[in-house]
Amino acid sequence: MADRVQEPDREANKSSLRRLGIVGAGTMGRGIAWTAARAGFTVIAVDVDEKARQALLDHARARAERAVGRGELSLEAAEAALRRLSAHEAPEALAGSEAVIEAVYEAPDVKRSVFAAVEAAVDPATLLLTNTSSLSVTEIAAGLRRPERLVGMHFFNPADVMPLVEIVRAAQSDPAAVAAAVSLAESLGKTPIVVRDTPGFVVNRVARAYYNESLRLIEWGQGKPEAIDALFEARGFKMGPFALQDLIGLDVNFATTSTVFAQTFYEPRFRPSLLQKAYVFAGRLGRKRGRGFYRYDDR
Ligand code: NAD
Repeated sequence: MADRVQEPDREANKSSLRRLGIVGAGTMGRGIAWTAARAGFTVIAVDVDEKARQALLDHARARAERAVGRGELSLEAAEAALRRLSAHEAPEALAGSEAVIEAVYEAPDVKRSVFAAVEAAVDPATLLLTNTSSLSVTEIAAGLRRPERLVGMHFFNPADVMPLVEIVRAAQSDPAAVAAAVSLAESLGKTPIVVRDTPGFVVNRVARAYYNESLRLIEWGQGKPEAIDALFEARGFKMGPFALQDLIGLDVNFATTSTVFAQTFYEPRFRPSLLQKAYVFAGRLGRKRGRGFYRYDDR
């Protein structure tokens, strides 16, 4: 069996970067952190929330055990990957990172204050990346001391599984920073596609129609989420639109639609759903809260 086990410490050979910072240890930060540690990077994760930091380490351990169980990683490689990963509260821990990926809440003021702290902690040459789903990377960059080093790096959920990464070129992005982001994504084993900084970029822009129309269907009494999801799944989709919203997080999805709507100067076809807004304010955020369109019983 040993010959089927991958080489220990898959080398991050496409990019010269070795030390990666990640700010935000939520749904996305966790997946990115494990992907990077497994690919050979030393990963410094930062989050203000102690539970999120612990969840990131637990997630990595669970993923490592699963990979060993499936014969994808040797035990030694898995243990080495886990040792490369650490979680911290203060952004000062990012010092020495060659690149930092921001994955905090989808709120411009939060991202702005995080980047101010990141810029204070890292070297002027450090590549800065934002995992924003829909905020303007150009606007985020405008708040930086060195806007030319910020590039969008938009992973898809679950980040340790989905291969696509949109590399978002902001108006100020230095072409060398864009090229570095592409090679970093390749070193993480991802498929990077360079896109322009337009509202929702490409995938989320097109996906708005998928979510909005499915929400309108239930608002108009066409059926329940289960029935609509079953139709899509019978058609060959891995998940219907409601199961997928529960996975992504209804708050994240609502924020994305609201941002795309605002950024297109209120183009009516992107208008968010009132039903989705009600779910968000009722705390039914999806899997992460145990309830969204479906109930998730941790027993
Ligand atoms: P999340 O709510 O699961 O996690 C966000 C984390 O950021 C939390 O753990 C929170 O404690 C932390 N945080 C908040 N303020 C902080 C600060 N000042 N310093 C350090 N940590 C801080 O969110 P998520 O779903 O992981 O989304 C993160 C980003 O990725 C957002 O910009 C989102 O739009 C984007 N994104 C999300 C998805 C998705 O499907 N969930 C997909 C692609 C991109």
